[in-house]
Amino acid sequence: MTDPNTNSSDDKMSKTVSLAKRRGFVFPGSEIYGGQAGVYDYGPHGVELLNNLKKAFWKANVYDKENYFGLDSGMFKHPRVWEASGHTAGFSDPIVECRDTQTRLRVDKELEAVGVTADEKMSVDELQVLFDEHKDEIAQRNNLSGNFTPVRAFNLLVQSNLGDFTGAGTDPVYLPGEACQGIYLNYKNIVDSMSPRLPFGVVQIGKAFRNEISPRNWLFRTREFEQADTQLFIKPNENKEAYEQLKQERLDWYVSLGIKPENLRFKQHENVAFYASDAWDIEYNFPSMGWDELEGVHDRTDYDLKQHMEFSGTDLTYLDPETNERYIPWILETSVGLGRMFAAVLADAYHEEDLGEGNSRTVLKLHPDLAPYRVAVSPLLKNKPQLVEKAREVFTLLKAEFGNVAWDDNGNVGKRYRRQDEIGTPHCVTIDFDTLGEEDPAHKDTVTVRDRDTGEQQRVAVAELVEFLK
Ligand code: ATP
Repeated sequence: MTDPNTNSSDDKMSKTVSLAKRRGFVFPGSEIYGGQAGVYDYGPHGVELLNNLKKAFWKANVYDKENYFGLDSGMFKHPRVWEASGHTAGFSDPIVECRDTQTRLRVDKELEAVGVTADEKMSVDELQVLFDEHKDEIAQRNNLSGNFTPVRAFNLLVQSNLGDFTGAGTDPVYLPGEACQGIYLNYKNIVDSMSPRLPFGVVQIGKAFRNEISPRNWLFRTREFEQADTQLFIKPNENKEAYEQLKQERLDWYVSLGIKPENLRFKQHENVAFYASDAWDIEYNFPSMGWDELEGVHDRTDYDLKQHMEFSGTDLTYLDPETNERYIPWILETSVGLGRMFAAVLADAYHEEDLGEGNSRTVLKLHPDLAPYRVAVSPLLKNKPQLVEKAREVFTLLKAEFGNVAWDDNGNVGKRYRRQDEIGTPHCVTIDFDTLGEEDPAHKDTVTVRDRDTGEQQRVAVAELVEFLK
């Protein structure tokens, strides 16, 4: 069997995006109104995959660990939080606008595209010089005239009018620019209520909003997204070894979800963000886009707790029960956008296979724990009541065990298999006349189980079906 997609990465991404829409995984936001840029909705199959990703993340980072705690903090936070975090002053991207077409460009990314790395700490004036040097090339890349406004810093925080009943513009309240701040705000509550010893971790999956200048590349750069974060609180200066271990653990986790190791790599940031002392990305080789950031792993030292201690006036030191010393813990962070994870998992799982004699199939080779349905159940014929009744029995049995089980009685068996292949269902179970014992009494109460990846079929006793599928 061949995989024609491996040679055409552009094609593969557009096919993945189109399958995601056609088969109920991902829809453009507010589509019937012409769309809302940078927002996507997860459909019936997409939400299952998304929830399965979250479950897998939670299992690996909370249940399988010791001294890791879950959290779900409120989205709206005291306005001072974003001052303390550095976001109101420093969370901005450099922007220019084409005066003729009103097209906005993100200057650092445009420079990157023409082979120039802009230091994150560069001033607007310094960026202007670099931009001017490469203006013609950038204009050409974007099919623009070159009539640009000066470079300016554009803050990415999304403002809300929560509680501003007079419209007088009291202290602005922001939607979260990153999910992790909720963890820092609850660090003291967690220490007081759970009495953890260092090192301990706190895990949250939460929404983030950014006024991205040019949302693009499907789920990769959106204005609303979810982040899955772990924040590991450690003793000061005990960061180096723990950081290396964390990085490797996170990369290995993606491989355990079935992502091909050759599509993953580490990349160190040349310039680190204002809060970090060291930063590495786990990059994924996205079809059509190439290597880009999937997850960030950051060594944040004591920056966050120190800032919040100063701005809130609350003591956030930790009393070490062994040494009786007080100090501010350091933090190692991992942060990944669920949308990017979703896009990587889907693109990695997408395969087209030539079955010979002019036949081909599209199959999502998703890890069974991630697939929207664990298994699909079908009666061989939907107009034979005995078959339907028996199939319903099996369906109920499997649903009680796995929860997410599909019932599929449309079209012929071959079509059902193709349909389930396209949404990544690992096994299809068919109830036929053999199951009823009509053809061969020895086969009574056995079903056909078809494997998604090999296409092989096996007869399995209903009594052993749950174990077999597990
Ligand atoms: P980039 O450089 O691509 O803008 P970032 O370095 O600002 O990303 P972080 O602030 O470190 O990203 O956020 C952590 C993770 O959140 C990223 O690794 C990514 O997976 C996700 N993320 C960030 N911005 C977006 C976005 N606009 N859309 C979707 N996911 C995002």
